[in-house]
Amino acid sequence: MYLLMFFLKKNPTAEIRLFNTKGRMKEAFQPLSKGQVKMYSCGPTVYDYAHIGNLRSFVLSDITRRVFEYAGYEVKQVINITDFGHLVGDADDTEDKMLLGLRREGLALNMENMLSLADTYIDAFKEDIQAMNVHTPDVLPRASDHVRGMVAYIETLLQKNYAYATSDGIYFDTAKFSDYGVLGGSGSEEHSRIGVSAEKKNQKDFALWKFNSEIGWDAPWGKGVPGWHIECTAMSTRYLGKSFDIHTGGIDHIAIHHNNEIAQAESANNKPYARFWLHNEFVTFDSKRIGKSEGNAITLRQVVDKGISPLSYRYWLLTGHYRQSMNFTWDAVHAAQTARERALRAFSELKGKGEVDEVYRKLFEGALYDDLNTPEAVAVMWRLIKDETVSQGSKKATLLLFDTVFGIGFLSLEKKADSAKISVSSEKEIPDDVQQLSDKREQARTEGNWNEADTLRAQIEALGFTVEDTPDGPVLRRT
Ligand code: AMP
Ligand code: ZN
Repeated sequence: MYLLMFFLKKNPTAEIRLFNTKGRMKEAFQPLSKGQVKMYSCGPTVYDYAHIGNLRSFVLSDITRRVFEYAGYEVKQVINITDFGHLVGDADDTEDKMLLGLRREGLALNMENMLSLADTYIDAFKEDIQAMNVHTPDVLPRASDHVRGMVAYIETLLQKNYAYATSDGIYFDTAKFSDYGVLGGSGSEEHSRIGVSAEKKNQKDFALWKFNSEIGWDAPWGKGVPGWHIECTAMSTRYLGKSFDIHTGGIDHIAIHHNNEIAQAESANNKPYARFWLHNEFVTFDSKRIGKSEGNAITLRQVVDKGISPLSYRYWLLTGHYRQSMNFTWDAVHAAQTARERALRAFSELKGKGEVDEVYRKLFEGALYDDLNTPEAVAVMWRLIKDETVSQGSKKATLLLFDTVFGIGFLSLEKKADSAKISVSSEKEIPDDVQQLSDKREQARTEGNWNEADTLRAQIEALGFTVEDTPDGPVLRRT
């Protein structure tokens, strides 16, 4: 039996089609190594809270991961943390976002402050993705811990004549890489934003390293800071190998950041870089892209303050296809919350046990295996909920299966029901008041009320208990 399960896991047979930005068409996915998917997503720049647009890109990588795991693949997922070097604009002479964050918080511009500012927003990011039920990636590498790898890449590119020095840094020579701009967008208005510099050989050339005598790292060619693009190339290949399966990010990164990642990696390694490129469209507000520079950056905390659970925001995102832009309105997410609560209520009323319904399973897989069509999969879920011909037990089993990809709360409802049964036997060890505080804290965490959750933890500790958050829920112990 175990052998059979192992065999099945290593030999996923379903055809999963993905829209590959490289080539601009849907292609059947073929892994580079049998049964495995190695994927990388451009992570947050931790100078401030992530906004709800950013979070869409992490829901895309989470759904991609979950779909492949569902299909039986072993997935290795990396999301990087950019804690320096990401400039406000695409031009190499705009301001570093981390320095902007230090200025905003009235802190002196030095490395220590920069890294501690990053610590604050890394914690906030982890809380956000946890609240949205985005699985923690296998590796969350921090750019500042990988500068040596970036320096090594730049050295290789210099040795191979793909890079050259100017008075302010080391630049990649885009004319030397014949495939430059393979993802599209090059030569367009995005590139005109890079700016003209007398010392650059070509307008599209970009910085691999910027000299900076005050803040930065030592390198053979002078103290400074690596460019943002080389960060991703160095960290993705460090953990996934020189060639890997899937790279994801928002559409704003196609023209410059991702074309530049490909140019650096393939010039240095003589190997194809990422095989599939998946890009999510924007979340907009008043039909304008949500972004800090646009001045309309809504955070998950603000969403929670309006009484919307992070999982309802997740559900709302799933009702749109990742390649369609979604216009955020408060009415839309309130409606999503109502719908999700209705689904949870319907689920909680289901009685008995049953087998997964094969018809609905196939419809669900048909939707997701066709370029991660989550709106179609959500429609299938609603058809199932309303279908009176399917037994309650079978509905329940099928919804639980769907939730391994959706992550909208059926599984945690079920887990809570199970742990309520289990806790009967251990009731005497955990006093009622402590258990109640823990339940309240769980509720607060589910809703993203982190301050309240912290206050409740302090109250639990004051009563002589510790609370540890495990994947199976909180575990209480006497101190
Ligand atoms: P950043 O921290 O700016 O690198 O952004 C992190 C991720 O969020 C990147 O993949 C961006 O492409 C993506 N992103 C930024 N703004 C939006 C938006 N309004 N909607 C969807 N994705 C976005
Ligand atoms: Zn990146």
